[in-house]
Amino acid sequence: MPAFKERAAEYAFGRYAERGEPFRLSRRDFLRACLAAGVVAGTFGCGSDEGGGSTSAERSFPMQVQGYKGLADLPFFEIRGGRLKVAVQDLPPAIDFHTHLGFVTGPAPMDYLRSSPEVRYLIDCDGEHPACTFDMTDYVNGIATEEMRAEMDLDLALGALFAKGAIETQTLPNLAAEMDDMGFAHAVLLPIAMNLLQPDNMTERWKGAVDASEGKERFIVLCSVHPKQPDAVAKLRGYKEQGYIGVKFHPSMQHISPDDPASMQLFEECDRLGMMVFFHAGPTGLEPEPLRKYVKMDRYLAPVEAFPDMTFVFGHSGAREWEGAMKIARGHDNVWMGTHGQSVAHLKATISQFDNERLLFGSDWPFYPLAATLAKILIVCDGRKALRDKILVENARRLLARFSVTPA
Ligand SMILES: [Zn+2]
Repeated sequence: MPAFKERAAEYAFGRYAERGEPFRLSRRDFLRACLAAGVVAGTFGCGSDEGGGSTSAERSFPMQVQGYKGLADLPFFEIRGGRLKVAVQDLPPAIDFHTHLGFVTGPAPMDYLRSSPEVRYLIDCDGEHPACTFDMTDYVNGIATEEMRAEMDLDLALGALFAKGAIETQTLPNLAAEMDDMGFAHAVLLPIAMNLLQPDNMTERWKGAVDASEGKERFIVLCSVHPKQPDAVAKLRGYKEQGYIGVKFHPSMQHISPDDPASMQLFEECDRLGMMVFFHAGPTGLEPEPLRKYVKMDRYLAPVEAFPDMTFVFGHSGAREWEGAMKIARGHDNVWMGTHGQSVAHLKATISQFDNERLLFGSDWPFYPLAATLAKILIVCDGRKALRDKILVENARRLLARFSVTPA
């Protein structure tokens, strides 16, 4: 029996042993152990699969769980020491291509090297919201109630201006601890230059934290330049000289569309410098209505067409305009798709309709835990290890190698 299955079976036993109860499988635990052992959905009994560890029919998994920690109901995760941890033994050392730290836009001091026992996510399905159901059939932010959205807005505002509140837990060691829990070796950090009123130094702050941290080789920091900064092009050149390989661009947070002349000018320089652009792509529905015009997917077509040799990543695969993102990405081989946020059904459709060599894993931490996206990837790649490993690490390594970055 493969180690993972052995471990899953042990888990079902262990939970009872830990509590000192006689071993007795409930129906739920029996089903869970069956799922973990590779039973084909719809069959009765715990069998083992033949050969290469994959089943010919798809297994079925619960699509709604109670909070993020409810993901332990899937055979891929378990709770140990009060923390959600991945329970798949043969995961490759994965790369999360879409992470952030706490967004501070003002001068407030923020300790990015502080550890805390818990992370408060911006969309906090484990927080003070006993009714939060984590639903994998919808775009991820569909889980957020009005109350959770209001809390996120407050957390973002308090954090950005005063570095207080949830943001204090959105630090490098906390991200690293979660990467350890989930089997991730590396992460790409995406700062966002939002503040035009005073010099925005989010890139420098995050890079400074990484350089001062113990695990600095685990993180790759992209830069961010606001296209409307008077010295935008010079700033970009400076970043390139310092070794940055790409730019994060967030139309709704930066209040500017990708096809704005100022944006196009910045991309032209990116192209000249041989840098990539990681887009926040598409409306999430959480942005204020007046900002939504900046993130409509048709605004992304101009740069993608104008710079065919430059690599663009559509973070969130277009978010709530997945069809629009797919249409552009399928027609342009310089576009990669970030898997974060999409439903299981959209991820399945992406895999069947799009070049699997251009899919990147992203979690959008600390908006969400790594497990929220990892769960969906493990579901859609169930029984397809080669595909899973492409999405979790190989594609990212190939893309980074184009920029002479080889994560250790
Ligand atoms: Zn993001």
